[in-house]
Amino acid sequence: MLCAGVAAGLPEPFASLYSDTDTVLSEFQSLAQHHPDLLQWTPPDESTTPPSAFQLGVATFSSRSTGGGVSTSQSEVDARPKLVLVFSEHAREVITADTALWLARVLVGAFHVLQYVAYLLHVLNPHPDVCVWSAGETLDVESWSQMRAAVSAMQASLATATLNVTAPSDGKLSDWARQLLQRVTIVMIPVEVPSSRRAVEAGNTCLRKTLTGVDLNRNWPVAWRAGGDRNAEEYGGPAPMSEPQSRALRDLVRGLRNVLGYVQVHSGEWAMYVPWDHTKAEALGLPADTHALLNLLNGQCQCTRGAGGSASNYLAFGTSMDYMWHGALREESHSLLVVC
Ligand SMILES: [Zn+2]
Repeated sequence: MLCAGVAAGLPEPFASLYSDTDTVLSEFQSLAQHHPDLLQWTPPDESTTPPSAFQLGVATFSSRSTGGGVSTSQSEVDARPKLVLVFSEHAREVITADTALWLARVLVGAFHVLQYVAYLLHVLNPHPDVCVWSAGETLDVESWSQMRAAVSAMQASLATATLNVTAPSDGKLSDWARQLLQRVTIVMIPVEVPSSRRAVEAGNTCLRKTLTGVDLNRNWPVAWRAGGDRNAEEYGGPAPMSEPQSRALRDLVRGLRNVLGYVQVHSGEWAMYVPWDHTKAEALGLPADTHALLNLLNGQCQCTRGAGGSASNYLAFGTSMDYMWHGALREESHSLLVVC
């Protein structure tokens, strides 16, 4: 995934490649201001004491248009299928918040991947005289073929990359995004725990958990394990749903109508997992096209895929993926896809 930004708050090597938390959040604010027809943004508030109330930062992407200049009613928009995407649950996985920002730009049609390619070439190329762009130069990518060309060129040779960007011959990304948001509402949490990610930026670069020492992806009621070591990396908290982030995410999803998908985006593995995490078995009742979809995505990913507990070679207890499949969403939809 391409992501870069000048981020004064991050230590090296992160600062050369990733955006700091405040930049990510302010970018969401800015995108919402510039694209109010497509994006609503609620900033996070991590205070748990009055007068503030704990609030996840939530970006909701949806179009009131149904195409051809026709607008639809709010109730019809509310009834559309929902996809919930959660990023940066584990603080040290800093790339995921940038991934959320990249996707947000794609969805509102503000995608400037070549700006990032140019920036990466500038940062990583020890011989800037052979770099075809200087940092900050922008050339919009409008099509899937252009994006593939940009990415493959960067991967082929950072030192001598020359991107042969041709006229769009396939569908434009902006057209794809607009049509998608006329059919589906995407609810995105770009930084689930801003305070922890800021701690990484302050130098605690291995921090995985919340500042209260809880692994949020072990804090959910399905197969939750009691009595864990508080210092353990996978400490699931004093009780299931003990953490405000978990409760807020649960309540957010419960409050949505017609949720068809829940995706937790982590980094550190090349993998796509579906339930279950807590046992090697694959959950019964997954959508019939689950494996077809994973195989399709694997064309880009080339990664481990399948039931989490089996494909990963480790079991995880009390994860949100297992909870979402088991309890929160399944009753509403038989075609739910839950991926971690
Ligand atoms: Zn993680």
